Amino acid sequence: MTTVKAYASPSATEDLIATTIERREVGPHDVLIEIKFAGICHSDIHTVRGDWGPQQYPLVPGHEIAGIVTEVGSAVTKHAVGDRVGVGCMVNSCRECANCLKGEEQYCLNSMVGTYGAVDRDGTVTQGGYSSHVVVTEDFVVRIPEGLDLDVAAPLLCAGITTYSPLRHWGAGPGKKVAVVGLGGLGHMAVKLAHAMGAEVTVLSQSLKKQEDGLRLGADHYFATSDENTFKELAGTFDLIINTVSASIDISSYLQLLALEGALVNVGAPAEPLPVNAFALIGGRRSFAGSMIGGIRETQEMLDFCAEHHLGAEIEVIPAGKINDAYERVLASDVRYRFVIDTSTL
Ligand SMILES: [Zn+2]
Ligand SMILES: [Zn+2]
Repeated sequence: MTTVKAYASPSATEDLIATTIERREVGPHDVLIEIKFAGICHSDIHTVRGDWGPQQYPLVPGHEIAGIVTEVGSAVTKHAVGDRVGVGCMVNSCRECANCLKGEEQYCLNSMVGTYGAVDRDGTVTQGGYSSHVVVTEDFVVRIPEGLDLDVAAPLLCAGITTYSPLRHWGAGPGKKVAVVGLGGLGHMAVKLAHAMGAEVTVLSQSLKKQEDGLRLGADHYFATSDENTFKELAGTFDLIINTVSASIDISSYLQLLALEGALVNVGAPAEPLPVNAFALIGGRRSFAGSMIGGIRETQEMLDFCAEHHLGAEIEVIPAGKINDAYERVLASDVRYRFVIDTSTL
């Protein structure tokens, strides 16, 4: 075991504090990563505060990890010391179920292992990226191409892949009209990615407050959903709508914005069920679907795509001492568009 610096939540109700945690010894298939940057995802806050169920504490969140390989196990072939690498929302899976064999480890039928707060296959509880180092099995480590700075790459490991995967799966590209609901951490990446894929992109946001940003990030159009006219004007328009809002929204109204055979894909997850009017679906052979992060192969593909198109996240880099403030600002939607912790300040 190695003792490393970290920022941890001591309980569901206390602020995060500076501490140390133990990382396992580097096994034959493991990679030791010196973490340089870790993004702050809204999920981190939900998890440490127990919103998604009871946790074991102290808990170190963080699943948007970018860093440098400093040691590799004897059997490692995919990564070498000095490589620029990333780790996203999962660090293991069963690797033998039908979904793992398809390369969709995030949908592992025997449960993928989350990067923090999850029981790994060896029985230990995982601790995330608000830390100086992490040990991860090589198969769940991806390469960050040279063209991408590590700070703007970190949020791609969750916010990037969460939006890239459904955009690809539902065929965003030239000739397709894509709408993105919500311009936050996920939404701003959805806009950048869909634009880079060649789609015509529309942002559907509560107000026009971030319109200038949205257009700068690559949106062609920007509408306020607080304006009832928006729903009349855009009825039957979109081939694909990516809903990044995790609060409850009126799904049936948004379904009416889909063109024939369009799909509305939820990547956020409100705690309560979302009612859907079946007429909104059958009246246009429409689909209401969901999508969760992406597999390791697709995560690598996304990073390569981002490097090729020179796109990273829009970030605000903070020292570790500002993590608790950043949480409050995330909850108040006061961030454009992702906080990234400089882990040298731990
Ligand atoms: Zn996340
Ligand atoms: Zn599996």
